[in-house]
Amino acid sequence: MRVKEILSDYDLKSTSCRNEVLSMFLKANQALGQSDIEKEVDPSHDRVTVYRTLKTFLDKGLVHKVLDDAGITKYALCNECAENAHNHEHVHFKCEICGQTSCLEKIAIPTVNLPKGYKIMEKNLLIQGVCAKCN
Ligand SMILES: [Zn+2]
Ligand SMILES: [Zn+2]
Ligand SMILES: [Zn+2]
Repeated sequence: MRVKEILSDYDLKSTSCRNEVLSMFLKANQALGQSDIEKEVDPSHDRVTVYRTLKTFLDKGLVHKVLDDAGITKYALCNECAENAHNHEHVHFKCEICGQTSCLEKIAIPTVNLPKGYKIMEKNLLIQGVCAKCN
């Protein structure tokens, strides 16, 4: 099963919560927020378990953060990231019609030249509009 293979590739033990959350991401093809996940997982997994699962996936380079409008943090699958080494600076797109936020993996965030003395730790770019499915 794909889910278990991915978990073992990332050196993660398979637990029922991890399995469920990962298969949700594989199916979703869009960014998911913690509350989206809580609604769908088996009720035996409480909020803390879901939170820890997401945190583990984040630390291991399995998912990355996607800042939505309204400041909600969502998560999306990474393509080829490693533990503590996320490596992608692509644009995210939020569709105003279907409400889905997705990764535009091939569109890089433009280079920003900051004033002297400033240091970039993280870059996020969210574009809002109408996605290809809804257009
Ligand atoms: Zn990543
Ligand atoms: Zn749409
Ligand atoms: Zn992304």
